[in-house]
Amino acid sequence: MSATGASSEVLERLTRLRQHQQDGKRSPHKPLLVLLALGQFAQTGSSKLEWSLVEERLGRLLAEFGPPRRGAPHPEFPFTRLRSDLVWQLSRDVPNDSLSSLREEPVTGQFVNDIEAALEQDPELVAQVARDLVEEQFPLTIAPDVLSAVGLDPDLVLSSAGTEVRQEERRRRNSAWRHDILQAWDRSCAFCGFDGQAIGAPVGIEAAHIRWFNFGGPDELDNGLALCSLHHKLFDRGVLGFADPETIVVSQTYSARSEEGKRLYDFHGKVIKPRPGTVLPAPEYVDWHTNEVFRTPALQDAPI
Ligand SMILES: [Zn+2]
Repeated sequence: MSATGASSEVLERLTRLRQHQQDGKRSPHKPLLVLLALGQFAQTGSSKLEWSLVEERLGRLLAEFGPPRRGAPHPEFPFTRLRSDLVWQLSRDVPNDSLSSLREEPVTGQFVNDIEAALEQDPELVAQVARDLVEEQFPLTIAPDVLSAVGLDPDLVLSSAGTEVRQEERRRRNSAWRHDILQAWDRSCAFCGFDGQAIGAPVGIEAAHIRWFNFGGPDELDNGLALCSLHHKLFDRGVLGFADPETIVVSQTYSARSEEGKRLYDFHGKVIKPRPGTVLPAPEYVDWHTNEVFRTPALQDAPI
């Protein structure tokens, strides 16, 4: 299926947003606003969003899926600054980043007219843009959660045809790394030891990047862990992290009602014990995870 000229041009504009990304620092503000507007378009046929709704929903998305920066999540940054990428317009003029102007009187934001028109004409375009953005910003453990949160169907989006660049990247990633990581960790979860198999092959055990692949994390043995599906997800969501390359920490943001759920607290301070010869995570990748993913504070830092 070949995208029309207008579609590929829109795909290009919406997925090459100006980022002030440096040194692998995560900055998902603009992509998350575009995803939210795509969800709105999929549900209502228009990307038009009231600022009051964006303030609440994008604020929540940034808190939940953004990097663990201190302070407010600042949804007003992308809501005003996405205009400079020539893909976004506001119903009245507002200075960049001005929360007070946005709150003064009602204002809506939406894609510029030619993008709205292209989305209307090509029913597959929403899924293509959403897929490119979500795969660029998040690991596959989290991508479906982000899509659901913005009102898009993860099954539909993630099964859509990606761009050639993405497909190539996927091929490149499909290397021996996963196999090597599972072997290195004896096909068991580095955190809990789960080592289930079905028909002789590991099941529910995955190779996890410590520094995310899409943020400069290499396919190396010291940037990976074998983790069970649950702990992989909790690690990528920043619920689990490392105090040092051998010691697990649990985020204070985690809570659970059942005994089963509360059992996660037992991992706090636990030292991982790989079999002899297994390469431990490199401190630089652990540091990246601590700065960009882990939801501080850890349990031990909690004020008593
Ligand atoms: Zn586990």
